[in-house]
Amino acid sequence: MTPLTEIILRRIAKTGPISLADYMADCLLHPEHGYYATRDPFGAAGDFTTAPEISQMFGEMLGLWLAQVWMDQGRPAPFTLAEIGPGRGTLMADILRVGRAAPGFLDAAQVHLVEASATLRQVQRQTLGDHPVTWLDSAGALPDAPLFLVANEFFDALPIRQFQRDAAGWREVQVTQSGGVLAMGLSAPAPIALLDHRLDDTSPGDLVEICPAAAPIVDQIATRIAAHGGAALFIDYGGWHSLGDTLQALKAHQMVDPLTHCGEADLTAHVDFEALARAAQGVQVTPMTPQGVFLERLGITQRAQALARNLSGPALDSHIAAHRRLIHADEMGSLFKSLALVPHDTPMPPGFAA
Ligand code: SAH
Repeated sequence: MTPLTEIILRRIAKTGPISLADYMADCLLHPEHGYYATRDPFGAAGDFTTAPEISQMFGEMLGLWLAQVWMDQGRPAPFTLAEIGPGRGTLMADILRVGRAAPGFLDAAQVHLVEASATLRQVQRQTLGDHPVTWLDSAGALPDAPLFLVANEFFDALPIRQFQRDAAGWREVQVTQSGGVLAMGLSAPAPIALLDHRLDDTSPGDLVEICPAAAPIVDQIATRIAAHGGAALFIDYGGWHSLGDTLQALKAHQMVDPLTHCGEADLTAHVDFEALARAAQGVQVTPMTPQGVFLERLGITQRAQALARNLSGPALDSHIAAHRRLIHADEMGSLFKSLALVPHDTPMPPGFAA
């Protein structure tokens, strides 16, 4: 039993069953024992790998996307270049490297990283060298200025609540204890106003998920883009209109039971892009587009071919595998989706067809 499991069991003994969201929040961000608070989870030796860690091409495409949208909006200066949930800082480093190709872009960019983990802030500091960076605790602290923002695999790390449809309303999935170990339970049924819009497309027994923290974050970003210009690009795994249990725990690249290894396994859930789009008021929301299609439209294959010219042997093999992993439908290409927000009066951004 991990130290965090004992803390959570004591909490349940004192105050009763807790929501899945409270459980996830403790597992991921408990200041002493939380998953992100205590480690750098990325890469082959960690628990999972993300697109920017797979290949520099991912960050290059996103950097060129940001620079193009910035140019399309008349090169506002200064502007906030932001990332939420920056992990190791690899994506931002790649963005800053390709950003040099757009005259004036880097000079006007004021880099802001929204990061909850002190451990990962240190890793980001190392990755970004001496580039000036401001760290923020939340998206609500982003400056009131033109905002060009990316978030990759951020929303999937936010705590979710799960509800099971019942004849009389909804039962919430809770974390409780049974025989001294953590167990899943269900609350008594109750009507849930937040889920009224799901009464038409679900039937008793169906499970739906909501991510209470996501909408306020999207709202804070959309408000700044509507007021000052800019763009936000969200890439994550998930789909449109959540249905079914998608909670997943990963440890050393293996799926494990979400109730074991508290604080030592990564917990994520599919992102409901419909909920992100609904929360984006006052801005234009692009169609949700599979990651593979989006990266192809931005020219990732031409970039891959250019990089391949200088490679041979195992380095070439792993470069080809990385390209495939990012775009192929059997890998990350269709499970991962992209969605962007831009001001109403600007053209559809690159990579998204009307
Ligand atoms: N974007 C990176 C990392 C994804 S992992 C990549 O693609 O490699 C999720 C990131 O979000 C981590 O940096 C984690 O510490 C951060 N994070 C998780 N919950 C957060 C929260 N509530 N507020 C700010 N950052 C958070």
